[in-house]
Amino acid sequence: MATAAPTAVLPDPPAPAAAFRAGLPAALQAKVAASIALLRQALAEHGRVVYSSSLGAEAIVLTDLIWTEVPGIDIATIDTGRLPGETLDLIERIERRYQKRMRVYSPDAAEVEAFVNEHGVNAFYQSLELRQRCCALRKSRPFERAIKGYAAWVTGVRHGQSEGRANVLPLERDARNGLMKVSPLLAWTHDEVWQYIRAARLPYNPLHDKGYTSIGCAPCTRAIEPGQDERAGRWWWEHPDSRECGLQPRARVPGPAA
Ligand code: SF4
Repeated sequence: MATAAPTAVLPDPPAPAAAFRAGLPAALQAKVAASIALLRQALAEHGRVVYSSSLGAEAIVLTDLIWTEVPGIDIATIDTGRLPGETLDLIERIERRYQKRMRVYSPDAAEVEAFVNEHGVNAFYQSLELRQRCCALRKSRPFERAIKGYAAWVTGVRHGQSEGRANVLPLERDARNGLMKVSPLLAWTHDEVWQYIRAARLPYNPLHDKGYTSIGCAPCTRAIEPGQDERAGRWWWEHPDSRECGLQPRARVPGPAA
């Protein structure tokens, strides 16, 4: 007799209808509507659009908006090989809720092997250069494959996340990757993201309940103290100016108005 597949996580509650949005505060309802409108605009204007999900809190909201309202946008994510187990479990929980698969991209095994054999398994702690090389091969290169062939990609960045993200525009040209970048959650606050997650009963990474705000690879992420910058737990041993993974370029090249 067939037995049920083992699962490391408890089932999430059933998804409520999107009608829950009517119970949100008016200001947040307006932001939800604006985010959906921007996603629809991006799909209408650019045809092939992909969302590269970080699997963080903002990603959960964006996944809900895309898979319930704009399913023509593809969703991808990157398994760097150093993600926390909670993050991998989250992929399964999200897919179960929406009965859809997101495309998971992995780094090139030979590249990782060569890097680790030359510099060690935790080379990222040794220098900024090695940390950035690790991010390049584990994140940036799979990301480049994830967006290949698309005309625009969606990000979950918010203005309030860090000083480096305060000037991002909703729709701008990503000169480095040669396509448009769409950021529908720029105006959302941290509290609004969580208000939405709880109202919709969305699955989220349990590490958030342990003080983790921005979650990346296990060895490069830690919980933050109250009052710290939301991204202070990422590469905490580095100067704040270097704390980006390479997927969010600092130089801004404005595109058409959103
Ligand atoms: S976050 Fe850390 S482990 Fe992950 S790719 Fe970057 S340096 Fe490597």
